[in-house]
Amino acid sequence: MIKQVDTDHPIIPNYTGLILKKQKNLAVPANSIEVLVNKELVLSAEYVPQDLVVPNIPFSFTEDLPKRKMRQEAARAVEMLFTQAEHDGLQLTSVSAYRSYLRQQEIFTHNSKVRGETEANKVSARPGESEHQTGLAIDVSAPAVDYQLIEEFGETKEGRWLRENAHKYGFIIRYPKGKEETTGYQYEPWHIRYVGREAALVIAAKRLTLEEYTIT
Ligand SMILES: [Zn+2]
Repeated sequence: MIKQVDTDHPIIPNYTGLILKKQKNLAVPANSIEVLVNKELVLSAEYVPQDLVVPNIPFSFTEDLPKRKMRQEAARAVEMLFTQAEHDGLQLTSVSAYRSYLRQQEIFTHNSKVRGETEANKVSARPGESEHQTGLAIDVSAPAVDYQLIEEFGETKEGRWLRENAHKYGFIIRYPKGKEETTGYQYEPWHIRYVGREAALVIAAKRLTLEEYTIT
């Protein structure tokens, strides 16, 4: 199976760092915990993680949907993260985790119709370009911002706690403030990505992005 394939999309200018990573990262299988997925390194339409499970954490919706799922190791880690958050008196709530290639396609097509393709790409990834397809990413929020995925979440007590503690559980704030040029995404305080504890500790200590971590 093709683990990662080149995108049909043109290389984004000024992304020289990512082009380097592209060469290096092509050998990394999609099911690696440290896999780098972004607007240049894309997952194939066929890639579906084989160990998706539903973590025992609170969700902002009641339906039994695939977006509850995460890969097993990430699911166990997110349970520990949520347990500690709850212990610390927080109401961290999960909004969306796994998303299939097809589901991402539906979302992007919908956003493109509403906003136009350029605007759609600022708020939603093209299919194959979303970390949610890895089963290692999860969007979280809190009642204080009505469970919305908005920048203000970063200033809630849950958002601040997440920034200070996510790495202890193997998660990183994947799209930090001030790193838009490297990640290709605006600041998303709600999107955390499981990379394993070892990588997360280095990334947090050195204030890196996954892009920077991967090439250094
Ligand atoms: Zn997300």
